[in-house]
Amino acid sequence: MAADLESEVQAIDKSLLECSAEEIAVKWLQANDLQKEVYQHLAYYVPKIYCRGPNPAPQREDMLAQHVLLGPMEWYLCGEDPAFGFPKLEQANKPSHLCGRVFKVGEPTYSCRDCAVDPTCVLCMECFLGSIHREHRYRMTTSGGGGFCDCGDTEAWKEGPYCQKHELNTSETAEEEDPLVHLPEDMVARAYNIFAITFKYAVDILTWEKENELPGLEMIEKSDTYYCMLFNDEVHTYEQVIYTLQKAVNCTQKEAIGFATTVDRDGRRSVRYGDFQYCDQAKSVIVRNTSRQTKPLKVQVMHSSIVAHQSFGLKLLTWLGSVIGYSDGLRRILCQVGLQEGPDGENSSLVDKLMLYDSKLWKGARNVYHQLFMSSLLMDLKYKKLFAIRFARNYERLQSDFMKDDHDREFSIADLSIQIFTVPSLMGWYNMCINPYFLKKARMLITEENLMTTIIKTFMDHLRHRDIQGRFQFERYTALQAFKFRRVQSLILDLKYVLISKPTEWSDDLRRKFLEGFDAFLELLKCMQGMDPITRQVGQHIEMEPEWEAAFTLQMKLTLVISMMQDWCALDEKVLIEAYKKCLTVLMQCHSGFTDGEQPIVLSMCGHSVETIRYCVSQEKVSIHLPVSRLLAGLHVLLSKTEVAYKFPELLPLSELSPPMLIEHPLRCLVLCAQVHAGMWRRNGFSLVNQIYYYHNVKCRREMFDKDIVMLQTGVSMMDPNHFLMIMLSRFELYQIFSTPDYGKRFSTENTNKDVVQQNNTLIEEMLYLIIMIVGERFSPGIGQVNTTDEIKREIIHQLSIRPMAHSELVKALPEDENRETGMESVIEEVACFKKPGLTGRGLYELKPECAKNFNLYFYHFSRAEQSKVLHLIGMALQEEKQHLENLSEENVVTFTFTQKISKPGEAPSNSPSILAMLETLQNAPHLEVHKDMIRWILKTFNTIKKLRESSSSSPVAETEGNIMEESSRDKDKAERKRKAEIARLRREKIMAQMSEMQRHFINENKELFQQTLEELDTSASGVHENSPVILDAKLTALGPEQTRVAEPRQVVMCILCQEEQEVKVDSRAMVLAAFIQRSTVLSKNRNKITPDPEKYDPLFMHPDLSCGTHTGSCGHIMHAHCWQRYFDAVQAKEQRRQQRLRVHTSYDVENGEFLCPLCECLSNTVIPLLPPPRVLFNRLDFSGQPNLTQWIKTLSQQVQAIQLLRNEHCASHSGHSEKMDQLQLPEGFRPDFKLKNPYSESIKEMLTTFGTATYKVGLKVHPNEEDPRVPIMCWGSCAYTIQTIERILADEDKPLFGHLPCRQDDCLMSLTRFAAAHWTVSSLSAVQGHFCTLLASLVPNEKNGNLPCILDIDMFHLLVSLVLSFPAIHCQDFSGVSLGTGDLHLFHLVTMAHIIQILLTSSTEENGMDQENTNSEEEVAVLTLYKFLCQCTGSALKEISSGWHLWRNLKAGIMPFLRCSALFFHYLNGVPAPSEIQVNGANQFEHLCSYLSLPNNLTCLFQENGEILNTLIESWCSNSEVKRYLEGKRHAISYARESNKLIDLPDDYSCLINQASNFSCPKSGGDKSRAPTLCLVCGTMLCSQSYCCQTELEGEDVGACTAHTYTCGSGVGIFLRVRECQVLFLAGKTKGCFYPPPYLDDYGETDQGLRRGNPLHLCKERFKKIQKLWQQHSITEEIGHAQEANQTLVGIDWQHL
Ligand SMILES: [Zn+2]
Ligand SMILES: [Zn+2]
Ligand SMILES: [Zn+2]
Ligand SMILES: [Zn+2]
Ligand SMILES: [Zn+2]
Ligand SMILES: [Zn+2]
Ligand SMILES: [Zn+2]
Repeated sequence: MAADLESEVQAIDKSLLECSAEEIAVKWLQANDLQKEVYQHLAYYVPKIYCRGPNPAPQREDMLAQHVLLGPMEWYLCGEDPAFGFPKLEQANKPSHLCGRVFKVGEPTYSCRDCAVDPTCVLCMECFLGSIHREHRYRMTTSGGGGFCDCGDTEAWKEGPYCQKHELNTSETAEEEDPLVHLPEDMVARAYNIFAITFKYAVDILTWEKENELPGLEMIEKSDTYYCMLFNDEVHTYEQVIYTLQKAVNCTQKEAIGFATTVDRDGRRSVRYGDFQYCDQAKSVIVRNTSRQTKPLKVQVMHSSIVAHQSFGLKLLTWLGSVIGYSDGLRRILCQVGLQEGPDGENSSLVDKLMLYDSKLWKGARNVYHQLFMSSLLMDLKYKKLFAIRFARNYERLQSDFMKDDHDREFSIADLSIQIFTVPSLMGWYNMCINPYFLKKARMLITEENLMTTIIKTFMDHLRHRDIQGRFQFERYTALQAFKFRRVQSLILDLKYVLISKPTEWSDDLRRKFLEGFDAFLELLKCMQGMDPITRQVGQHIEMEPEWEAAFTLQMKLTLVISMMQDWCALDEKVLIEAYKKCLTVLMQCHSGFTDGEQPIVLSMCGHSVETIRYCVSQEKVSIHLPVSRLLAGLHVLLSKTEVAYKFPELLPLSELSPPMLIEHPLRCLVLCAQVHAGMWRRNGFSLVNQIYYYHNVKCRREMFDKDIVMLQTGVSMMDPNHFLMIMLSRFELYQIFSTPDYGKRFSTENTNKDVVQQNNTLIEEMLYLIIMIVGERFSPGIGQVNTTDEIKREIIHQLSIRPMAHSELVKALPEDENRETGMESVIEEVACFKKPGLTGRGLYELKPECAKNFNLYFYHFSRAEQSKVLHLIGMALQEEKQHLENLSEENVVTFTFTQKISKPGEAPSNSPSILAMLETLQNAPHLEVHKDMIRWILKTFNTIKKLRESSSSSPVAETEGNIMEESSRDKDKAERKRKAEIARLRREKIMAQMSEMQRHFINENKELFQQTLEELDTSASGVHENSPVILDAKLTALGPEQTRVAEPRQVVMCILCQEEQEVKVDSRAMVLAAFIQRSTVLSKNRNKITPDPEKYDPLFMHPDLSCGTHTGSCGHIMHAHCWQRYFDAVQAKEQRRQQRLRVHTSYDVENGEFLCPLCECLSNTVIPLLPPPRVLFNRLDFSGQPNLTQWIKTLSQQVQAIQLLRNEHCASHSGHSEKMDQLQLPEGFRPDFKLKNPYSESIKEMLTTFGTATYKVGLKVHPNEEDPRVPIMCWGSCAYTIQTIERILADEDKPLFGHLPCRQDDCLMSLTRFAAAHWTVSSLSAVQGHFCTLLASLVPNEKNGNLPCILDIDMFHLLVSLVLSFPAIHCQDFSGVSLGTGDLHLFHLVTMAHIIQILLTSSTEENGMDQENTNSEEEVAVLTLYKFLCQCTGSALKEISSGWHLWRNLKAGIMPFLRCSALFFHYLNGVPAPSEIQVNGANQFEHLCSYLSLPNNLTCLFQENGEILNTLIESWCSNSEVKRYLEGKRHAISYARESNKLIDLPDDYSCLINQASNFSCPKSGGDKSRAPTLCLVCGTMLCSQSYCCQTELEGEDVGACTAHTYTCGSGVGIFLRVRECQVLFLAGKTKGCFYPPPYLDDYGETDQGLRRGNPLHLCKERFKKIQKLWQQHSITEEIGHAQEANQTLVGIDWQHL
């Protein structure tokens, strides 16, 4: 069946391929009715090519379509072979200066903060790198897809609009030239023809709605086949769709995932192919299954011909886009065709049709035609404008469609449970508007199409729900309305774009249209004025929090637009005056002349009286939303700033201004805030608190709080201050208290309600504070004589007075303008110093000390500070008076007489003391200690002013005046100093508080560090290392018969759990170290190695590629074994209880034996027992007549032989005695029947087994089995591997071998080595003996062990460790008098020699490379001789080298790591302290190492000394067939020294990575862009993370690409960079993960996780090194553990899906 189909397809393909494009084109050229010809051609061929079966075959389809369909069109267009035609076109083309590159998803884009007209003007990477902006302050973002490069657009850039590539030739004029002149006339005609036909065809078919008919095409298909087409929606989740599909169309889960992925990406996908009924059945199942809770999934049964033509329609659009790329002339023709009005009049052009059909198209189709629009209409200077007009005309309709359409919401990959990273949407009409070329060119559209008004009206139309006063009412919004509201907000963005480029010249037309738009805008604001009114709740608490967010969202979104409106008004005097008038009128309308129907009353006090209305904030409705009042305030300030008020006072409606009306509503709002602070509105719940918060918040305050203050300042400046004060008292509801004589006294005696007293006190304070602000805040332009720079400077000074801040924090604390700029950079240098960040943390700005004098405790953007406001106010008044006096000129009289007033006794309560007198008494009041300085300062200033007044009234005497001035300046100084001291004190307090906070934080952040300190304390207290013997001057030898004897100190340690001390002894209770074992590939030289089946794998020999090792680490904390056991049992029990209760995850996996160190919470999965040096126990000291290597090997071989015979015998023993047993002659003193008594206590033995089994389990990934003979091998391996990793770290950091290890590593290595050496005592003796025999046989061959790895394939250090540690199992039965030390030494020498041969064989020495000194030293001669011998042995296959110098150099370098590892190993094994020379870096390290290891400096001497046996051995090694194959170049081998592994190199500029990632497409879904491209920092592979497409199955579970990768690349541990998010990801196993700050910093020393700020990022090498070190130290898992402990939400993330 399948084969039939296949052959049928091939037959069709063949017939299709026989078509000749040229012939068809010729036919077309001669045709009378071209359209008919073409349509016939398409009707016949399209269904043959597309959709022949259930699944599309894009490659085949593309190939055939190109040949049969597009080929003829190209021939026709060119009139010749397009292979010649197109290049000709390209050559003749005068290319446009616009780049216009359309961005791919995730591609980096750049915007210049200095030169871009607005932040939406962006450059592609190529243009950016060739532009002047790379030297400017720029911002980098990743494109959501769909925008395009603005290079070459002179209107987008204030400077440097062209990059080098798009630079204008000076000879050319920028002005338009018709591109059609570059095309031959006949071609123009042909292009019109073919474009018109194809474009119309594509538009018709894409917008076609009938199911069984085609537009203007015949249905030639006789056999009706159908597709069941599934469409995308944003309602159903991936999983729902997958599940439904499996049911409905009977597919596998994998297929269903495939369908769902395509539907999500392209917007539709056929899920079934067949006859109508077959498809319809699937449709009904899908609809039924998805309609239960929500609206059903959209499914349509479509005729296969329609689907085929639609596929080709899309192909055609893409083709058109690429064809016009050859010539600007063709582009223009296409634009003309597209915008030509059709027969149906208005909106009938092809472009209109597509636009208006947009919301009905599926995603994939939208995407294709949007791209075409961008590469055609928007790239043509003339048609761009025409298109903009079309767009503006259709604006309302398009927006309504958009409102109904459910696409374009942010996709949620909901079931990945990682909502924290949402992926921005890729498609949708709206995205095109976000970067709309034409909206930015909006002035033309404002005048010609009245766009501003249209946008605002459209917006208002969609928010129809109003209250009786016509104000917006969000309270009763349904979910749908709320959804609409969210969508409609995008209109505000459009409004912003319209306003973003401000006019330089105003035409009358523009004025008129702008003011028309302003009218519409005022209508909008009018609907907001007074919305969401609130009434104070008394008695009961409110039941439901009222909706408040919608109103604030609107306000927040509009904030910038309101500011921009004011900016526009400020540009033209006429506009400003008109706008001001309009605004005032609307304000009057809002409040029906301000009274809102309230009763007028008269207030009188101290001889003043004022008329106002009866109104109480605490009793009547009040609203925070007063945008009309605030806009008026803004405009009013502009009147004075632009000096319009002085130039044209007659044009302003000044007579209509009623100051009490102006201040009324803002004042109510501020009183509301005061009352909330005084606790009067507690019962109104959190919604009110939130509103008050936002009212003051930096996001809103510019057009809310700030403007209210401005309005009050404006009002007061026009009023009698006494009147103002009385109105204010009345609104604060304090009028009674202040106007009634003795009210205060009565009040305090009669009314004992403390709350009310407190309330009133707060209200009074709040009122005073408000007065301070009104009088003192004169730092906005138009109010005081300052400019914007002064304003921002003051803002920054006050922010930094709180504490030093990072750049991003400061940016957040400052209001941003429409270009997302705060203006901070221009002033920051003047007021602050930048402090660079260290390895953690970020760069900080610190206030310059000289700026501290500008600090004002009552700065109005600070939150409430509990300080004495009265004193401050008095102080301000005095300052003011003093200034007046000091600036006194002859004729002026200072009318500001504050000093007089405060020295007069009070009037109202008669004979009350003057303020001054009161202050004097207060001076020494003990309860006012805090304010003492302030009071003193006020009194001082008062005196100064008094003196000033006296001196100015009397005739000035030069001398005295001088004195006074001096004194006053001295006073000033003193005051200044006092004030500074005060500031300093405040700061100190803050710092102290911060310090303790930071300390806590620091401890948390740097647990590791603290552990170490704790540890050091621990160890020094318990005195482990204290008493290490110091052996001076003696030559220290680590092993062998010459080994330096050291008396092992008593080792007393303390248990962290029970605090008891105990000595580490063979027969006492075991003490253990918390430890963590993990598989590791950190040293791997071969990451592609396939992991063998762990059940069958034999780990006896480690391959020198070290592809997978077992690493053991420890935090160094010591416990009793039994204490730990109890602790672990408790953890386990607790975990079980917890899991029963609720499914909580922990950072550790108890079932896998994991726990956290009880002291430092370090992740651990086992414990290592502490042991005394184990060698001492088995070493029978007898130094007389030790055998040399040759003799020793002979004896050993005999012993091995005996053992092997015995073992065979043992196996065969059931069948009685054999002959061999009789033949066996036991070597002298060898007693194979001897059983050693295990010297260790039971508890130690138990721990030996525990740790051994854990190593085995983790290292091999198998179930624990303490009997398995591989257990001891894994223990030796882990010891060797861990030593190797530490040696590498030390070498990489250029640190000496000893003396620099942190305690925890020192302790860990010591116990690990001693444990590994003791482990054989708890394993099967014969197994260990067997291992030893095999290991030895790899170097000393015997007949028994064939088929061992050749010496090229053995890691010699692993071999050494295994041999040395298994040797006692044989030696314990040897009573011939040979010491263990002798054995160790011979084994060491033997392995060293093998390693030397290994190095020489694989040496890649290049003789010519290096300058050599012709020394011909003894070593060089010897090594050359050895090499020549090797050549002989290998049959001269070895490369010929004649330079001994090179060989020796190479050998020394190659063997160094091995010697260093060996030194560490024997040091920990035998406890011989390291000679001081190798504890520091210095000369002759090699010689010192050799001496410590009992090696001759000239290593080749080893061979000479043991020539007898070595020649035989070398010959046997070289005769291995693998060695031959290697030398013949047939295989690869590791050469030495192995280089250390590093993380990959990262580029300095982060955008390189973004670019790299944007070019990366998902490897599984054929060229699709990956949504979360993620880079493995270990091997450099880019992965498609966090996506269904790249999930794979791992151990029966679906895992994401990253997790899957960790298993091959890092044996479960991974370090990644999520490129889009600029975030480092650590993964360990399937359940553990955390994020880590990326090693990229901006110029302010901050990381940008999530790439939200977009500052240029550069690699911080130190931070990257730190990450690398974490990796090399195997601390990734530990880091994750700490992160998860600190942040529980990390535990809940499904890391395996990444
Ligand atoms: Zn570009
Ligand atoms: Zn360019
Ligand atoms: Zn620039
Ligand atoms: Zn204990
Ligand atoms: Zn610990
Ligand atoms: Zn993928
Ligand atoms: Zn990797």
